Amino acid sequence: MKICFIGTGYVGLVSGVCFSDLGNNVICVDKDKDKLSRLENGDIPIFEPGLSELVKKNLSAGRLSFSDDLISSINRSDIIFIAVGTPTAKDGISADLSQVFSVTQLISKKIKSHKIIVTKSTVPIGTGDKIEKILNKNKKKGNFTIVSNPEFLREGEAIKDFKYPDRVVIGANDKKVIKIFNELYRPIVNKGAAFVSCSRRAAELIKYASNAFLATKISFINEIANLCEKVNVNVDDVALGIGLDKRIGSRFLRAGPAYGGSCFPKDTKALAKVGKNYNSPLSIVNSVINFNEKRKSYIEKNIYKILQNKIKNKVICFLGVTFKANTDDLRDSSAINLISNFIKKGAKINYYEPSGAKEILDKHKNVSYFDDIYLATQKVDLIIIHTEWDEFKNLNFSKIINNNKKIIIYDLRNLYDSKYFNNKNNITYYSIGRPVNA
Ligand code: NAD
Repeated sequence: MKICFIGTGYVGLVSGVCFSDLGNNVICVDKDKDKLSRLENGDIPIFEPGLSELVKKNLSAGRLSFSDDLISSINRSDIIFIAVGTPTAKDGISADLSQVFSVTQLISKKIKSHKIIVTKSTVPIGTGDKIEKILNKNKKKGNFTIVSNPEFLREGEAIKDFKYPDRVVIGANDKKVIKIFNELYRPIVNKGAAFVSCSRRAAELIKYASNAFLATKISFINEIANLCEKVNVNVDDVALGIGLDKRIGSRFLRAGPAYGGSCFPKDTKALAKVGKNYNSPLSIVNSVINFNEKRKSYIEKNIYKILQNKIKNKVICFLGVTFKANTDDLRDSSAINLISNFIKKGAKINYYEPSGAKEILDKHKNVSYFDDIYLATQKVDLIIIHTEWDEFKNLNFSKIINNNKKIIIYDLRNLYDSKYFNNKNNITYYSIGRPVNA
């Protein structure tokens, strides 16, 4: 099939490349020319394991191309996926749909024959209806079908998630179009994915409800972790004990810092706003949002306590600053907030990050990036394990101790068994929802 992806970010690039790998002809469009010229040379602008190989393979097979010419790209394609960003709007809660609607306006003025226009971007319920209105207004009646096909991939696991998803959700009101999507996703469904076809509005809501549910699971275990800290219980035992119940499931039950990233914070807020708009308050989602905000200051206060409220001139080392492992994405990462608050209080920050230095942090005078864990942890007052990158799971503590004599670690991901530190007098180990060194 001839496919065009508008927006070549974490979702558009991965989905477009994977569709080309399934034998389709795909044009990935973006307005960012630098990004496109890097991609044309097989240079991937994001950190996503396995993506570089797939881009190179499909570029040389001639099934994949990149373009900044939206008009010609849409007119050469049958299916147009919109995969632009839908960040939080200026009001701090709604989804900002300006990128989606500006693309829609362009499409509506320029399509010459029937097109299937698909929202891959996460958009609130009713957005498909609005897109339809814009196209109808521009006298394109009957020349298009609007479909919702939300994406559930996770950064860091994106290729696997795209090719082997639990389900493919297609929201369309037209049976002929559903058949086309059956065909498009056949190789994926044949490998075991469920094919869920539903109304467009249901598909839009499925995406938000899924993210809100996962955010709720994370917040739930984080709140249980707070209780564990008071009652001397290990939250990992509790998570294991409840997660083995198949009705609950063990995933997304790892206690840690406030959830972050490019999806959960913005999508929970946008869903709460939709509930408000329809006079159907989503009290659970609202309390998850509030709890997650409080979680940020809870963790920050714990760090002050660990440093006995003497933060000025202290050197704090962050191991990992991204919101999770295997991505370079910093959007809403709790590390950014923490680092900027610590600097304001006069601390100095060292950081080591497997996906490389971050421009947003390097502009601060008192923040230093190291490309070596053991240089980053030299002569520091506190090491914060912020992100669960694999390389932090087997740190050489004697090498760190050599540099520091005594070390304090705050492990926000519970990567270590706290008992491991029982006989190590020169290491004080704090983690989440567990008694200290016990
Ligand atoms: P992103 O910011 O990484 O990418 C968006 C891209 O769209 C950018 O490259 C931008 O230059 C491009 N763009 C914006 N306006 C354009 C225009 N007019 N013409 C051409 N290109 C344009 O965003 P993302 O993380 O890929 O997310 C995209 C959507 O997918 C969002 O709605 C998000 O909620 C959803 N989503 C994201 C993830 C994820 O893990 N990142 C997972 C599932 C769903």
